[in-house]
Amino acid sequence: MTFRTRFAPSPTGPLHLGHAYSAILGHDMARARDGAFLLRMEDTDLQRSKPEWDAQILDDLTWLGLTWDEPVLRQSEQLRSYDPALERLEAMGLLYPCSCSRSQIQAALAAPQEGVTHEVYPGTCKRRDMTSRQPGDALRLHLDRALAQFVGIYPEFEETGPAHVGTHRIDPDHALAEIGDIVLSRKGEDIVAYFLASALDDISQKITDVVRGEDLFGFTPIQVILLSLLGHAIPRYHHHRLIRNEHGKRLAKRDDARSIATYRAAGKTPADIRAMVGL
Ligand code: GLU
Repeated sequence: MTFRTRFAPSPTGPLHLGHAYSAILGHDMARARDGAFLLRMEDTDLQRSKPEWDAQILDDLTWLGLTWDEPVLRQSEQLRSYDPALERLEAMGLLYPCSCSRSQIQAALAAPQEGVTHEVYPGTCKRRDMTSRQPGDALRLHLDRALAQFVGIYPEFEETGPAHVGTHRIDPDHALAEIGDIVLSRKGEDIVAYFLASALDDISQKITDVVRGEDLFGFTPIQVILLSLLGHAIPRYHHHRLIRNEHGKRLAKRDDARSIATYRAAGKTPADIRAMVGL
């Protein structure tokens, strides 16, 4: 199958060096393999995503010399496309409603990041069933039941990234202890969580190889579990090293000083950016 990868930023801030590295790496891998490089805006967080950031990211990627092979997919334009998957998981008895605080749920909807602790849900609402769902409740995955669907033969994924290269089988104890009952959506407000939307769009965009930062490696099992439950084939994953600042911290959206726009304004060239990230 032709190699197809994607760059999937959330337009909630400027493109910085770490994003540029991820995008250039995926792009170069696709070009070297005569494959396709696609873009996807993960803009399901309607409050924090801004059209200005979306436009700036596209402008920076173009300035870097990247080209993409299909129109940009914007998740905000297809929020209903995730409903059938949620309905399927509900029909399988794998969802429960959760009314734990809004801020907890808001945090649980976004992509995890290094340095931001992922809280394993303590299960406060786990006994509730779907008939007790109230407007504004989140829907959580009942992970124990989800794992029980695999009757001992847990799904696997192929990793090509340098730190974890090889085949990884889902470890149920690890998934329960480290990931837990994740939020999949906040119904009634049209918000689907990163884990589900991103995994489903890797399928809708026919991605063969997911190229992304090492900080997401530990959460790949949950996306593999969701895709397997829904009967989808699992893409290969390539988790690359992170670009860090001088204190060894992963660059974050608020590191404006390292945004590509700042380097452009200072007269740097795309070749300078490639050199700065070691490409
Ligand atoms: N949108 C995610 C982020 O900004 C990236 C998700 C992915 O590449 O799977 O961190």
